[in-house]
Amino acid sequence: MRKPDIFDEIVYFLRESGGESSAVEISPEILQDLYAAVDPAAKAVHKVSENIPLYESYDTASGNNNIKVPGTVVSAGQDVPLSPVENASWQELENLCGSCKKCGLWANRKNVVFGEGNRNADLMFIGEGPGADEDEQGRPFVGRAGQLLTRMIAAMQFDRMNDVYIANIVKCRPPNNRNPEPAEAACCIDYLKRQIELVQPKVIVLLGAVPLFYLMNMKGVTRIRGNWLDYCGIKVMPTLHPAFLLRDASQKIYVWRDLQEVMKVFGKKPVPPSKQS
Ligand code: URA
Repeated sequence: MRKPDIFDEIVYFLRESGGESSAVEISPEILQDLYAAVDPAAKAVHKVSENIPLYESYDTASGNNNIKVPGTVVSAGQDVPLSPVENASWQELENLCGSCKKCGLWANRKNVVFGEGNRNADLMFIGEGPGADEDEQGRPFVGRAGQLLTRMIAAMQFDRMNDVYIANIVKCRPPNNRNPEPAEAACCIDYLKRQIELVQPKVIVLLGAVPLFYLMNMKGVTRIRGNWLDYCGIKVMPTLHPAFLLRDASQKIYVWRDLQEVMKVFGKKPVPPSKQS
């Protein structure tokens, strides 16, 4: 049985109070967990690794960025094959993704995970790519990390299916849940960019290092998280990936702070106001 966390307490509170009151009682155990995480002494224990080992095969400094993926070879300066996504409708885009074979990931997929939620949402979440559960069901964020994301969204006082749109950098599952390769992301990114154009969200939340790198071309999510960025005039909040939070619960406090910044944009009261450090 999973130990309740801050998101459970806030969701429970919102249910019980009908979202009326502005103050949430967070239990002493959870507060202790949270504040232990920001205590400098505790930090040594919960050391965050600044560099998530990604993209070793992609050396932009030396220009040595030849990338090989089964069925696809992309060299520096060479165009990746792009689909005609420009001006595509939702249906056209979904069809294009559904039959896509631009990179090697199509070969082992059970389902393309296109994205889901409200296609007119003001808030969009972007992850990295489907895992086994998502591949099985054809839906984003339905595994353990997805269940945590659903609770994070509820704690923000949004409804996952009605208020937000959720998509990923790549639409097919990378084998063994590895990060998408640059060539795979390059083949897929136009689908996501068209999804963003169609949704026209006010705010995008980037979940982890992978979307930060492939959408914003930035590295160092632990340093950059919590800072507003801009993507084509849309406010972007980078934060940590829920799967990372499953491995290191002490980081939830930072993510909750980032999400509260997003809530403020929507006029939602950050909770609990009296408990902020
Ligand atoms: N992790 C992601 O980044 N996306 C998903 O859809 C599921 C897990």
